[in-house]
Amino acid sequence: MQFRNFKMVGYVVYGRGSFNQLDEIIAPHRKQGAPMVFLLDHHFKGRPLESRIPLRGNDLLLHADVTHEPKTTQVDALAQQLKEAYGTVSGVIGIGGGSTLDLAKAVSLMMGNPGSSADYQGWDLVKQPGVYKVGIPTLSGTGAEVSRTTVLTGPTRKLGMNSDFTPFDQIVLDPELTKDAPKNQRFYTGMDCYIHCIESLEGTYLNEFSKSYGEKALQLCREVFLDAPEWNDACDDKLMMASYAGGMSIAYSQVGVAHAVSYGLSYLLGTRHGIGNCIVFDQLEEFYPAGVAEFKKMVAKDGYDIPKGITQGLTDEQFDKMIDVSLGMKPLWENALGKNWESMMTRDRLRALYERL
Ligand code: NAD
Ligand code: ZN
Repeated sequence: MQFRNFKMVGYVVYGRGSFNQLDEIIAPHRKQGAPMVFLLDHHFKGRPLESRIPLRGNDLLLHADVTHEPKTTQVDALAQQLKEAYGTVSGVIGIGGGSTLDLAKAVSLMMGNPGSSADYQGWDLVKQPGVYKVGIPTLSGTGAEVSRTTVLTGPTRKLGMNSDFTPFDQIVLDPELTKDAPKNQRFYTGMDCYIHCIESLEGTYLNEFSKSYGEKALQLCREVFLDAPEWNDACDDKLMMASYAGGMSIAYSQVGVAHAVSYGLSYLLGTRHGIGNCIVFDQLEEFYPAGVAEFKKMVAKDGYDIPKGITQGLTDEQFDKMIDVSLGMKPLWENALGKNWESMMTRDRLRALYERL
């Protein structure tokens, strides 16, 4: 048995207002002549957070266009732009949702590796460290702040640059930054965490390491989405730690059916990760009966919008594409259904599931 020896984030600072320490935290990582690059989620363009970024010298502030989830072409263009203008940079600091965090990780890696980011989609293909990288989430749930991957849509697949060089050197967990997230978006990203917990805790890969983090994250999700009479600051604090713990849980286990199916939607229709997982999870009673019942209670409690009918009118060819992408996620299926998953999840069964979405 080969045990996973996994690389974690270097430094963690947590607390309301901890963003104010950023200048001090990154100071030792500044290199003469090489700018710090701040990659700010475009949502914050012109908003107060933008003016709090500690720009010095020739530092660069770039707005991350996350209209669509990150693509390898977008990563390559950003890295190329930086290489041409500066040769190298002191670091890349991503401030935003999971998409911006993934972009920051990937651009940092490409500052130290040749070719295209598409060459590194897979496991342990990245051979050199990138530049110093910092992740500062403004939405809670994906676990991208702790993970060893960065999910990118490439020319032929949607797959992460999964490597020991991928985790951030530093993360800044400041729950104040998530305060103004729109209600539905906050729910979709929060449910990504809830679904990570259910898929990890109900999976065949479960062990005490994953369980201890998964149970804590699940408890926090319940406090936030079921017990709190209305959203308050404590909910932001809790959901940020739920995201962290949920990410730690799947780091040593795996996600499951909702993620495997949602990857197909995302590949074909561009459905975003959080909302896609919600659309799928809503239909997964046969796999996760208790989790789905609780999810529906959370949806009903605050009246969130879960779209329906998104696969209506698709062609056979399109269904086949989604099925191919989904069945390609072998470890996810194996975690969810066990070693014999291929005999259980037939193409017909998966087609019927996609038709219900
Ligand atoms: P997101 O980053 O895709 O952002 C969703 C929307 O919310 C965007 O329009 C963004 O501009 C906006 N936004 C961000 N912060 C905001 C705030 N505070 N207030 C208002 N709007 C805000 O959303 P997400 O759910 O955080 O991340 C999903 C992405 O994360 C996907 O690209 C997915 O592939 C990736 N992901 C990565 C991992 C990993 O381990 N690397 C894990 C799960 C998901
Ligand atoms: Zn997820």
